[in-house]
Amino acid sequence: MAANYDLVVIGGGTAGLVSAAGAASLGARVALVERDRLGGDCLYNGCVPTKALVKSARVAHLVRHSEEYGVVSGGAEVDFPAVMDRVRRVIERAGEHDSPERFRKIGVDVFLDEARFESPDRISVDGHRLQARSVIVATGSHSTTPPIDGIEEAGYVDHVGALALRRLPRSVIVVGSGPIGSEFAQIFARFGSDVTLVSTSPLPLPKEDPEIGEVLRQVLLADGVTFHGGYRAEKVRVEGAEKVMTVRNEAGHEVEVRGEEILVAAGRAPTAGSLALENAGIELEEKGLKVDEHLRTTAPNVYAAGDITGKYLFTHVAEYQGRNALRNALFPVKAKADHRVVPWTTFTDPEVARVGLTEEQARREHDDVKVFRQPFSGVDRAMADGETTGFVKIVTGRRGKILGGHIIGPDAGNLIHEIVLAMQKNNPIGTLSTTIHVYPTLAQANQRAADNYYREKLFRNQKLFSAFFGARRLLDRVKPPVNRK
Ligand SMILES: Cc1cc2nc3c(=O)[nH]c(=O)nc-3n(C[C@H](O)[C@H](O)[C@H](O)COP(=O)(O)OP(=O)(O)OC[C@H]3O[C@@H](n4cnc5c(N)ncnc54)[C@H](O)[C@@H]3O)c2cc1C
Repeated sequence: MAANYDLVVIGGGTAGLVSAAGAASLGARVALVERDRLGGDCLYNGCVPTKALVKSARVAHLVRHSEEYGVVSGGAEVDFPAVMDRVRRVIERAGEHDSPERFRKIGVDVFLDEARFESPDRISVDGHRLQARSVIVATGSHSTTPPIDGIEEAGYVDHVGALALRRLPRSVIVVGSGPIGSEFAQIFARFGSDVTLVSTSPLPLPKEDPEIGEVLRQVLLADGVTFHGGYRAEKVRVEGAEKVMTVRNEAGHEVEVRGEEILVAAGRAPTAGSLALENAGIELEEKGLKVDEHLRTTAPNVYAAGDITGKYLFTHVAEYQGRNALRNALFPVKAKADHRVVPWTTFTDPEVARVGLTEEQARREHDDVKVFRQPFSGVDRAMADGETTGFVKIVTGRRGKILGGHIIGPDAGNLIHEIVLAMQKNNPIGTLSTTIHVYPTLAQANQRAADNYYREKLFRNQKLFSAFFGARRLLDRVKPPVNRK
C-alpha cells in the first residue's frame, strides 16, 4: 500500500526544507526525502563553512596588519585544526533548525534515504512507496572536474574535500577562479599556504564586470596568490610530495605550477543521476531540469526548485524558488517565478556584489546607457575603517532606470540591497541620491554614485542657469532687490 501525500519533496537542502516546511504550515500532508542529512550543501559544504573560513582568514589578515591601526601584535599564527573546529561549531549552530525531529514535529514525514521515481506520482524510498499528488525535486548540484590528464592518479579535492582537510597544505593549486575558487584561494593564502590560482579567463570572477575582476586580481596578488589568468590546466604528475601541473594559454605558452594539494572549483552540474527521471517523463538539460516559468518540469505534477533548475546557484534563489514551487505545486492558480532582479555576492575580502546587467550587457541591450561610480577612497567611513579598496558602479538606461549595480568593497553584500530594492520597485537612480543616508556609513558610497547622476544633469544645464543668474544680476542693477515689493 502506498502512503498518500499532497506533496512529496525530494532533497532536504534549502529549497526542499523551505518547500516542505511551507506546505506543512498550510496544512498539507507532506513527505520529505533526503538521502544524507537535512540541511544540504549550503549548511555542510557551502555557504556556512566557507563564510566561517572567510572570517578566520580575515582575522588573520587584520592581525597581520594591526599596526596600521596603531595596535601592536606579535603577528598572526593560524591554528588550522582550531579554525576547522570553529567551522564545525558554526555548522552545528546554524543547523539546529534543520533536524529531522523538528520537521517531524511540524508535521512533515521525513524519510532518510534515496528517492527514485516509479512514475510521475509514485516515488520509492527505503522500501516505501509514496503516492504524490504533486512533487518538488530539489536535489541540488555537485562539482565537476574538467578533463586534466593524470588528475585522478595524482589526487585532488573539491570544496567538500577542502573542508575536510585536517592539516593546512603548504601549497595549493586552485583550478577555477569563479566565486568558490576565488574565495578558497584567498582563504588559503591568508592562512599561510602558497597559493597558485589557475583560470581559463584572464581575470578572476569571469562573470563579473572586468573592472571588478581587475581590482580583485590585484587584491589576490597582494594576498600573495600567484594568478595564471588565461591558462588551462592540461596535465598533472606527482614529484615526491608535490603535484606538478602543466598549464597552457591560448598562444601555446606552457607553465609548470606546483602544489602539495590541488583544489578543483571549475564547474557544477545538476544532481539527478539516481532519480530515474525517465520513469516520470522529466527532461534533464545540461544545466538542470527543464522547467517553465512556474518551475514546472516536463511532468505536469512535478516542480523543481534550487540548484537543480540550473538557473542561479545560490541559497537565496533556492529559498525563493522553494516558496514559488510550493505554491504552484499545491494550488491551481500559478505564480510566475520572477528572476528579473537576482543579486549575489562573492565573499572575498573585499566582497563583490552584483545585481542586474553589467555595463557591457546593458550597452548591448539598451540605448542611452550611463555609468555612475563612486570609489570607496572618497567615502569618509571607508577611510576611517582603513578599507578604501573598490568602488560602487551603477549602470542606468533611459530616465535613470537602474539596469545593474556592481560593488567591490567592504560589506558589498549588504550594500547591494539598496540597489536591489530600487530595481525591484522600479525606482530610478535619483531616489538613491535624494534619500537621506546616515553619516558616516559605507552606504554613502551608493548615494555618492547616484549624486553623480544629478551632477551630470546640472552640468548639462549649466549654461541655462548662467543665463538666468546673469539676467537676474542685470535686473538687480536696474532695481535692487531690497527696493522690490
Ligand atoms: C563552496 C560553496 C560555497 C557556497 N557559498 C554560497 C554563498 O555564500 N551564498 C549562496 O547563496 N550560495 C552559496 N553556495 C551555493 C549554495 O550552497 C547552493 O545554491 C544551495 O545549497 C542550493 O540549495 P538546494 O536546496 O538547491 O540544493 P542542496 O543544498 O544541494 O540540497 C540538495 C539535497 O538533495 C539531496 N539529494 C540529492 N539526490 C537525492 C535523491 N535521489 N534522494 C534524496 N535526496 C537527494 C542531497 O543529499 C542534498 O541534501 C555555495 C556553494 C558551494 C559549493
